[in-house]
Amino acid sequence: MIPRTSDIRSAVLGQKPEVTELFDALRAGSQVGAGITRDSYGAGEQFAHQLIAARAGAMGLEVGRDHAANLYMTLAGSNRSAPRLMTGSHLDSVANGGNFDGAAGVIAGLAAIKSLQQLGLQPNCDITTVAIRAEESVWFQVSYVGSRSAFGVLPAGALEAKRVDTGRTLAEHMAACGANVEAIRRGEASLHASSIRAFVELHIEQAPQLVEAGVPIGIGTGVPGNFRYPRMTILGEYAHVGLPRRFRRDAVLAASEFAVGLDDIWRMSDTSGRPMALTIGRYHTDPNAHALTKVAGELTLSLDVRAYSPAHLTELEAQVVELARDVEKKRGVRFEFGARTSAEVAPSRPELITALTDCAKMLEIPRMPLASPASHDTATFTVAGVPAAMLFVRNTHGSHNPREAMEIDDFLQGVSVLAAWLVAEATSKASN
Ligand SMILES: [Zn+2]
Repeated sequence: MIPRTSDIRSAVLGQKPEVTELFDALRAGSQVGAGITRDSYGAGEQFAHQLIAARAGAMGLEVGRDHAANLYMTLAGSNRSAPRLMTGSHLDSVANGGNFDGAAGVIAGLAAIKSLQQLGLQPNCDITTVAIRAEESVWFQVSYVGSRSAFGVLPAGALEAKRVDTGRTLAEHMAACGANVEAIRRGEASLHASSIRAFVELHIEQAPQLVEAGVPIGIGTGVPGNFRYPRMTILGEYAHVGLPRRFRRDAVLAASEFAVGLDDIWRMSDTSGRPMALTIGRYHTDPNAHALTKVAGELTLSLDVRAYSPAHLTELEAQVVELARDVEKKRGVRFEFGARTSAEVAPSRPELITALTDCAKMLEIPRMPLASPASHDTATFTVAGVPAAMLFVRNTHGSHNPREAMEIDDFLQGVSVLAAWLVAEATSKASN
């Protein structure tokens, strides 16, 4: 029997106390100072994985881990060989971050599955909530480590990336958390697109667009692609503070001109109605060489540029390079771009956008389509060929900071949409 919409809603809303308690337990175990630190392949992430695995075990779900130590929590379906439905997100966080970025998607998956259990629904295929490892690229400066390892597509060299705080390699950190590094190195896959019917990731919104619109739920239109230069260096010449301007090769002024030029590129893109985002996350002179009375001879910065179409990204990168060449000529400096990483654009599957929108309508939950410029593991699923989409929950104060503020009532609206979608899929005749 297919559950009624009102029953799905009450099964989800009834979980408010235990969902709140689970978020609190997660916070209590990973609070460091004012914020949350769940370091990728480190103690913080380990704690979260153990807590969530125990909860899934108590729910009677099958709990398993793959060669990258990603965690899979599965409600068995009637046809176990049918491609499964998946949901979930990551459990790691940035240092001094918030409690909801990532974790909300994992707890949402468990809450949605629990509501199906309470409704006595046996799905026609397995339903899995995944807790993905190492989504936050701040730690190893590599994106989507857990999800790309699962699909066997972690780029060569990533395993040798050193964690910014410990100086130990990704391979060492993974091994310490029970991963099989050699299997990852060989490109073995634990997930295959052909065995996944669809993947939906719930995530807090990391900007105030839903707050501004007064709408609790966003249906993601896609995950932007990016190109990144984690360590770009501008080389000029250290000189005495008395050196006349015409002789100077000042790295700080060159970097400033570059930064303002980048902002112009963004402004023009906005003006022409093409969404993008551009961030210089690090920007510093060398503390061992800079001084009040010296012209700076070197400046190091990081650059992250993201957009929603491959053509736009190509165009933007050409503009960035052209700008750097202009600054070089004008200021007598040299740009070393350093290593480059990138991620493909991952548009949401239109039929999933429609399905999630229909579920929200059925539940009378206000929703809107949302272009969110953040990166998410959903992109890895999309690029691998899995039909995928995202659900965003309204959140005040952005993310990657301790002030993240998602209301549990908004979260439960998102879980309701997720649960309704799972019910619709898991009872549909077409896929039997
Ligand atoms: Zn996240």
